[in-house]
Amino acid sequence: MSHMKTIFSRKAVKFIVPFNEDITTLQEKGRGFYKAVNKKVARMINDGKIIDIGNRNKVLVQYEWGAEWKTEAQFMNEFLIEEEKPFEGLKLRKHTRTIYQGVVRKYNGKRTRDDKKKEKPLRETTSFIAPRTLNLVWSDNFFKFVDGDVNGNIEFKSLTGKKVQVPYKKTSKKGRIEKNAIKFLPYMKPDETWGATMIFSKDLKRCTIVASAEVPVTFKYEPEGFIGVDINMSEVFDNWLYFSEPIFGLSKIPKSQYVDTIIKTEKALEELNKQTKIQRLIKDRPIRSRERGKLRWKVKWNHRLHEKYIENAVFPGTEMTCVDALCTYAEQNKKGIAIDSVKSGNQNGTFGQDKIPNALIAECEKRGIPYILTPTPYTSRRCIDCGHVEAEYYANKGIKPNKARDSKTNIFTCRGCGSSHDADFVGATNLAVWAEFLVSVDQWQGDLMKDKWALIKRSFLFKDVKFP
Ligand SMILES: [Zn+2]
Repeated sequence: MSHMKTIFSRKAVKFIVPFNEDITTLQEKGRGFYKAVNKKVARMINDGKIIDIGNRNKVLVQYEWGAEWKTEAQFMNEFLIEEEKPFEGLKLRKHTRTIYQGVVRKYNGKRTRDDKKKEKPLRETTSFIAPRTLNLVWSDNFFKFVDGDVNGNIEFKSLTGKKVQVPYKKTSKKGRIEKNAIKFLPYMKPDETWGATMIFSKDLKRCTIVASAEVPVTFKYEPEGFIGVDINMSEVFDNWLYFSEPIFGLSKIPKSQYVDTIIKTEKALEELNKQTKIQRLIKDRPIRSRERGKLRWKVKWNHRLHEKYIENAVFPGTEMTCVDALCTYAEQNKKGIAIDSVKSGNQNGTFGQDKIPNALIAECEKRGIPYILTPTPYTSRRCIDCGHVEAEYYANKGIKPNKARDSKTNIFTCRGCGSSHDADFVGATNLAVWAEFLVSVDQWQGDLMKDKWALIKRSFLFKDVKFP
């Protein structure tokens, strides 16, 4: 007898806490320190003193005698003495370090978005990033439940060194608590400390602590293979969803099926984004907050509409939605679903590329359908017939790898065996192949360890890739 696989799905738990003096103090001191560190780091980047950002938030500092990598602690000891002064003797290193991490990550993230290959020097791609929100991010050991009771109060050490306990709202007569906000609370570990993001409303009257819980999901069958679902942005080739095998007779669903719904809201969002962008450039002419508020509301509204349209999009030739059809097909054929995970940061999420994955995941979890959501290497570079991976082979020989995909025809042609296919079909198929490999080494999404990733990737190549 075989046992069914259980994975752990990360879910948000939102605590709404009263905005008392303790929360105000934490917010003020936290933001104050964040701003000071942000200013220092930005200046050092622009002065060419910080020349690179590496793994684990290490920064490369330029000295007269040469460059040296500094760990978080080393950097703070050397360069943030002034900024950390207000917390001296309060044993708050963990706290200030989290804030420093937030700053460094932000600059590294911006550079990655600006220059995907990190080829330009840091200072040429990254300038000053103004802290836009009032939010604060705290790492793993900031909060705990008083007496290990998840239904009790939340405790944390404030930036004054004071231990603070706050209650959180469990119900609301007016229904103002977001539905499901604390639905997954029972899955939080009562005796462990935890990290969270504190979200503050603009008027500083409300605070929400957003934590997470690992919720077990048990799949109801062992998948006999996977269906890869490739999601595409490009309008040119109209391959919105491409499948690794035909689903109820269709190998793909073009977005042009949904002109009056999905496409229409995307056009509206594009237009709204243009407006906000133009306004951001005119620094000296502040937009009236009323106008800005209106615009923000419109963006929100269109995103909600967009989400609804995607969830309700009918699978051509059936009476089911796309998500339903995919899940029903998977169930009937005892297959798992390999979902294309969003590759880039939120900045590219203009059209909410995660809306389809989220809807698919929700339905899979509801029905107990096995699914894998993972960044897949080589989706567009691996030949589905011979396993040849363009990048690996040619990089070894010092030859610049081919793109393999013709941008005019969207056809992928393999330099190893010469076969060719639609590039999005290649992508979908590689998702399925990769998912099957991950299952074979028992690495379902959720227990995929970051430090194992390089090894997993290597073993995939050795197993599957035939070098020509
Ligand atoms: Zn090939």
